[in-house]
Amino acid sequence: MNWQFNPLVIVIGIAFLISLSVLVYAWRRRNSHGARPFLPLMLGITIWLLSNGIEAGFTNETTRLFWNNMQYLGIVMVPTAWFLFTAIYTGHSKRITKKFLSLLFIEPITIIILVWTSQWHQIFRQYMILNTTGGTPIWEWAPGPAFWVHTIYSYTLLITGVILLIQAYMRSSRLYKRQISVLLVGALVPWIANIVFIARGGSSTIDPTPLSFLATGLMIAWGIFGFGLVEIAPIARERVFEKINDIILILDDQNRIIDVNPAFRQRIKSNVRITGQPVENVLEQWPDLVSKFTNVNHIETAISLMTEDGTEKHYQLSISPLYDAKERYSGRLVMLHDITPLKETESRLRQSREAAEAANQAKSAFLATMSHELRTPLAAIIGYSELITEKSKVWGYENIVPYLSQIETAARHLNTIIGEILDISKIEAGRMELIKSDFSLQDVLDDVINTIYPLIEKNGNQLLQNIQIQSGTMYADKTKVQQILINLLGNAAKFTKNGQISLDVHYQPANNGSSDSYHFKISDTGEGIPNEKMDVIFKPFVQVDSSYTRKHGGTGLGLAISYQFCQMIGGEMHVESTLGQGTTFYLTLPAKVANEQKSGDKLPTAG
Ligand code: ADP
Repeated sequence: MNWQFNPLVIVIGIAFLISLSVLVYAWRRRNSHGARPFLPLMLGITIWLLSNGIEAGFTNETTRLFWNNMQYLGIVMVPTAWFLFTAIYTGHSKRITKKFLSLLFIEPITIIILVWTSQWHQIFRQYMILNTTGGTPIWEWAPGPAFWVHTIYSYTLLITGVILLIQAYMRSSRLYKRQISVLLVGALVPWIANIVFIARGGSSTIDPTPLSFLATGLMIAWGIFGFGLVEIAPIARERVFEKINDIILILDDQNRIIDVNPAFRQRIKSNVRITGQPVENVLEQWPDLVSKFTNVNHIETAISLMTEDGTEKHYQLSISPLYDAKERYSGRLVMLHDITPLKETESRLRQSREAAEAANQAKSAFLATMSHELRTPLAAIIGYSELITEKSKVWGYENIVPYLSQIETAARHLNTIIGEILDISKIEAGRMELIKSDFSLQDVLDDVINTIYPLIEKNGNQLLQNIQIQSGTMYADKTKVQQILINLLGNAAKFTKNGQISLDVHYQPANNGSSDSYHFKISDTGEGIPNEKMDVIFKPFVQVDSSYTRKHGGTGLGLAISYQFCQMIGGEMHVESTLGQGTTFYLTLPAKVANEQKSGDKLPTAG
């Protein structure tokens, strides 16, 4: 048995156990950010310590040589893994291509081969003899050229890693400098230890390098898992901070500037020193802004600022509080997002909408005037047709009477259409007004029924009435009430053949804050309205079946006008319908119209 107790075994053994635990821990948490590139480094250190510890416990030369050679698996792995870790950490992962990786591994693999075959050549070791005379066996050996190549290669990788960290340190804002310096210190430990070891000929009883790399490993592990060093991906954050177009300021609890990003420096062209200064000194161009938000810890709001060249800029300002690791308030994060283009688009849209509205009003005004102008000659046509009809009968020209009555019917129809266009134009132009008076609802209903009755009969319909309106007085715009009812009953008569039309009216005294009102229900057993059209029939120019227009006339304006009139009077209107079975319109009108309402505000548009 060539095993011999050696206190080194305990030291290295403990180091190995720590290393193994960190490795296992890192493996279990391998999905945390930054854990994966750290795993090969920790694996290398663990293999190195394990073989180093086992070797220290044996006296037999062959066994010791075996474990000495085993160490090299870790030795070649560590610098490469360290380099890869720093490259990924400092944001260079894109450059680590497969080709690059294969080139990087040529040297370590060659060294492993040379180490394991070193008894047959002197490329790695010129000679290596175990000196056991002093009690503790010590290797006496002389390095070959490959050893020096490997040393140079390893240091190049270690130094490159350190340079990458230093570069990152320089680029970083103060927030991250401390974190990177932890890594830098961790990186320097094995460096110094290894230089000491090599300077002493590499043959002291204990090789401190794996132990010092363990120190590095522990520091990184603490960074990754304890502090979320890599998890926070400082470099990525750094990039965001540096590259983002938004202006960012970090203030301490005394409102002094801790840090600002390049966007800040670019936009806020301030000549004074920035960091460490009270915010009011740096933002002296905007004293109002500073005083308004001095004590605001949390806000999202739009603000406007005048720039030096006198243009106005709009920003979305967001302020949020910052807390340190112990949850103590430590300052504020202020962000300004430029929304000037958005505001400009908004204002352009507003302008075009206003222009469109103005054009629409002009159109409505034009239509209103035109319709009015058309009505005057039409009145003459209707009037003279009536007169000539009468005179023709007296003068014995009865054969032309049917032609004359056709002229009269067409002219009346045209008059109705022009009337509707005039009404809707006036509503759209906001020029429709209420002419209020006291009147008897019963008289209105009688007039309406008289007007509609011929149409009801013409289509073979039956009219059922149920009118319970007590005194039946109303204070409203009589003509408009009449027009609404004529339209609803007229539609019922128009869209029903050989069916039933019923008119229910009842008086509802004031209750629960609502004033006295009349409830109308106009039902028919006609063709009904398809579901998809129910929402649009109150919009101007909408007809369920436009082919119907050709057969029965109509403009699709009646309901739109009635709906608007109803709104103006302060009433409500809605419809229920089953296709093929019939339609019911419900209308509620106040008995006494309160405040005058102008039209044009709530007009639903077609389409
Ligand atoms: P129109 O001049 O075409 O009658 P309205 O605005 O009065 O215009 O009505 C719009 C459309 O709503 C009508 O064309 C018709 O398709 C539908 N409609 C209205 N009332 C009824 C009803 N009682 N039964 C079936 N369809 C109706």
